[in-house]
Amino acid sequence: MKPLNDTITACPPSGIRKFFDIAAEMDDVISLGVGEPDFVTPWRIREAGIYALEHGYTTYTGNSGLAQLRRLICDDLSSRYDAHYAWDSECLITTGVSEGLDLALRVLLNPGEEVIVPEPCYVAYQPCVSFAGGTPVGVATRAEDSFAIDVAAIEAAVTPRTKAILIGSPANPTGAVQPVEVLRDLVRLAERHDLYLVSDEIYDRLTYTGSHTCLGAVPGARERTVVLGGFSKAQAMTGWRVGWLAAPRAIAELCVRVHQYTMLCAPHVSQVAAVEALTSAEGDVTEMVADYDRRRRVFVKGLREIGLECPEPAGAFYAFPSIRSSGLSSEEFAERLLKAESVAVVPGSVFGPSGEGHIRCSYATALPQLEQAVERMGRFLQSL
Ligand code: PLP
Repeated sequence: MKPLNDTITACPPSGIRKFFDIAAEMDDVISLGVGEPDFVTPWRIREAGIYALEHGYTTYTGNSGLAQLRRLICDDLSSRYDAHYAWDSECLITTGVSEGLDLALRVLLNPGEEVIVPEPCYVAYQPCVSFAGGTPVGVATRAEDSFAIDVAAIEAAVTPRTKAILIGSPANPTGAVQPVEVLRDLVRLAERHDLYLVSDEIYDRLTYTGSHTCLGAVPGARERTVVLGGFSKAQAMTGWRVGWLAAPRAIAELCVRVHQYTMLCAPHVSQVAAVEALTSAEGDVTEMVADYDRRRRVFVKGLREIGLECPEPAGAFYAFPSIRSSGLSSEEFAERLLKAESVAVVPGSVFGPSGEGHIRCSYATALPQLEQAVERMGRFLQSL
C-alpha cells in the first residue's frame, strides 16, 4: 500500500487523551484534566434547541450561517469591544472555533509558510498549522512574565517565510490574558513584517482580574486579523459545535469558500440555540463566571499552600502551577499522581516545550472535588 499523508502520519496523538484513557479505567478519579465546563448548557438555551427541533429546523442553513446569529455576534463585538465587522460579509458561523482555526490557516497559508505560535499553547494550534501545509514555529513564554507574549522573541523568530502569528487569549493552558500593551506591540510587529494574525478568543468572557481586549479592535489589527470565538466555554455548549469567525472581507470570503465545500454549514439547531445564548443567557454566563472565579481562588490558594508555585490565572478555567520543586518531569508527575492519588491532570509538556515543569489543572470541577484534589496532591508531594 502507498503511504498515507506524511504530515498527518507524523503528528503524534494528543497527549491529553492518553491520560483520559488511563483515568477512565480507574475508580474514584478526580479529573482536573478536561478542558470543558462541568455545567450543562443553561436551560433557556437547551429549550431553544428543543423548540428548533419541534419546529423542524433540521435543514442546512445558508453557508455563512443564520443572518440573525451573525448580526448578534457583530453587534456583540461592537458593543463589548468596539470591534466592527459587517455581519453580511465579514462573519461566518463555524462548527466551533476548531473549524474556524482550520479555515483561517488554510486560507492564509501556502505550503511551507511559517506560523509563529507562542507556547505553551492549545494542543491543536501546531497540528492545525501543519495540516494546512504550514510550519509551526513555537516561541516560548515564561511563568515569570505571567506567560505574556514576548514580542521581541517573536520578532527574532520572523523569517522571510513567516506568514502569520497565532495567539490564544485568555489562554489554554496557562489562563494568561494578554495585556493590551502586548497586543499593541504585536500588531506593530505584524505591520512591520506584513504578517497576518489569528486570535483565538474562545475564553473571552471568562476573565477574572481585568478585561479582555479583542485583537480586532487594536488599532492597525483589523485588516490583517482573523478573530475566532464561540459558545463552547462561556455558554457551556461544547457538544453543540457552534462558533464564529470574524475577518476582513477578502479573508472571510475565502473562509466561506472552503466551508461551503467542506462543512456546508454549522448545525441548524445549534445556531438557533446560539441565538438564544446571545439574546437571553447573559445572566447565566455571569453566574457561571462567578462560580469559576470562586473555585479559581480556592484552588490556587490551595495549590500555593501545599507548596506549588502558581502564576495567577486571570482567565479561562485553568491553573498552570509549577511542579519543578518535585524534581519530576511533568509527564512523570502526572502519571505518578494519577496512580498514587487518583487525580488526573495534564503534563505541561503536551502544550509545548516551555510547558515542561508545569501541570495543567482545570478548575471547571465542583468545589468539594477541587478541595479534595488539593488534599490528595499535598499528600502526593509529601510522599516524594
Ligand atoms: N480553542 C481553545 C483555546 C480551546 O481550549 C478549545 C477547546 O478546548 C477550542 C479552541 C475548541 O473550541 P470549539 O469547541 O469551539 O471547537
